[in-house]
Amino acid sequence: MGSRIMTSGRVAVARLDHGADLLVEVMRVASDTEFKTAEFHAIGALQRARLSFYDQTAKTYDEFVLDEPLEIVSLLGTVTRRDGAPAIHAHAILAGHDGSTHGGHVNPGCIIFAGEVVMHELLGAAPERELDAVTGLPLWGNV
Ligand code: ZN
Repeated sequence: MGSRIMTSGRVAVARLDHGADLLVEVMRVASDTEFKTAEFHAIGALQRARLSFYDQTAKTYDEFVLDEPLEIVSLLGTVTRRDGAPAIHAHAILAGHDGSTHGGHVNPGCIIFAGEVVMHELLGAAPERELDAVTGLPLWGNV
């Protein structure tokens, strides 16, 4: 385990565009605000979703599609760096019409119906993702 101290910076609030891809929109917020490192949360609704579950034995992501209107009960994530470029990592809990929920790692292909995000800038040296041999995941290597 490693850790580092970062400090809180600015806070951005943004409305997510109808019909846009969720991850693209979150990246747009980070880009527009010039937040190099951030954590964010969002609520809203999706027209459809594409999530995945990480198989810890096979070390592969198993993707699944939810092709229905969904509430974003909770979306949490970080903006850090991978190979020097911004990298978003987000997980979501989504609810269908009957209130049943699904959750997982957010992939491209989550299409926004409506949404709002609050993004908190973190100041200090940005964590860099690098491939972790034990888990097979791109984890923060320099914390
Ligand atoms: Zn994940």
